[in-house]
Amino acid sequence: MQRIGIAPQGPVFSRMVMGYWRLMDWGKSARQLVDFITEHLELGITTVDHADIYGDYRCEAAFGEALKLAPALRERLEIVTKCGIATLSKPGNTIGHYITTRQHIIQSVESSLSRLATDNINLLLIHRPDPLMDADEVADAFVSLRQSGKVRHFGVSNFSPAQFSLLQSRLPFGLVTNQVEISPLCQDPLLDGTLDLMQQLRVHPMAWSCLGGGRLFSAPEYITLRSELEQIGQELDAKSIEQVVYAWVMRLPSQPLPIIGSGNSSRVRAGAAAIDLTLTREQWFRIRRAALGYDVP
Ligand code: NAP
Repeated sequence: MQRIGIAPQGPVFSRMVMGYWRLMDWGKSARQLVDFITEHLELGITTVDHADIYGDYRCEAAFGEALKLAPALRERLEIVTKCGIATLSKPGNTIGHYITTRQHIIQSVESSLSRLATDNINLLLIHRPDPLMDADEVADAFVSLRQSGKVRHFGVSNFSPAQFSLLQSRLPFGLVTNQVEISPLCQDPLLDGTLDLMQQLRVHPMAWSCLGGGRLFSAPEYITLRSELEQIGQELDAKSIEQVVYAWVMRLPSQPLPIIGSGNSSRVRAGAAAIDLTLTREQWFRIRRAALGYDVP
């Protein structure tokens, strides 16, 4: 597995990341989770993606239980987590909302540290752009968390280029990623400036739901796309169509880090092998066309 410095003065991550949003659906015991983490570490996938809210605020704690069983795993991992969304699954929240106050960010990090059974987070992201975000206040929280050593690096998720630039303008250090949805099914960030800004700043985006959350494999409207992916998979000697999709995402010049969302070890292994595939320009555009249903103008 390739390792990549994700931004100037940013952390070094594995090129492919393991996402833990769906952890509670996998039904793994803490011991089974230790095995699963060990397996992806052996593939070279050392970076893991979390958020405070995943699994109704339970995923970080389940992961932390595994780390308590096998504490030596912690130093082999880079942990990404997020804050800034409040959901109705937390008692006391009367409406789903975004919250990026200084107090909330700092308290959320304290809770994540405790649940994850660690004393530092490698990368903290603001999960969604908040219309009520005061960039000075977020910057103040980030500076304080950095000084305390509780968080090493900071970034955002689902931010527009303008939102990214606003927060960056208030910080004495660089934001190191924007984690956004990128897949053949979600191509907007490729042309709306999101990935252009990343390339300009030499910051690597992280790519979520590269497989459309699994819809790619089942939805009838993607039959043409699936058949094109299979055809290109044969041309590349790929083992599965998800490998082709990950290679399609990694072919982008901003060099995104795909986040794998599967709890199935063999699928994770197959996904990780995408690192060895390189699509030609023509193959890349065939997938674009098959997903969008039209040729380039
Ligand atoms: P995804 O890879 O698009 O979807 C994963 C789903 O696809 C799983 O349910 C998986 O099921 C299924 N799947 C994978 N391969 C399959 C196959 N060959 N056939 C049928 N189903 C298959 O990724 P995602 O889980 O939506 O997102 C990945 C990560 O991105 C998350 O874990 C999270 O860390 C992050 N994320 C971030 C945001 C954000 O706003 N920042 C939003 C969403 C997600 P199995 O487990 O059974 O393989």
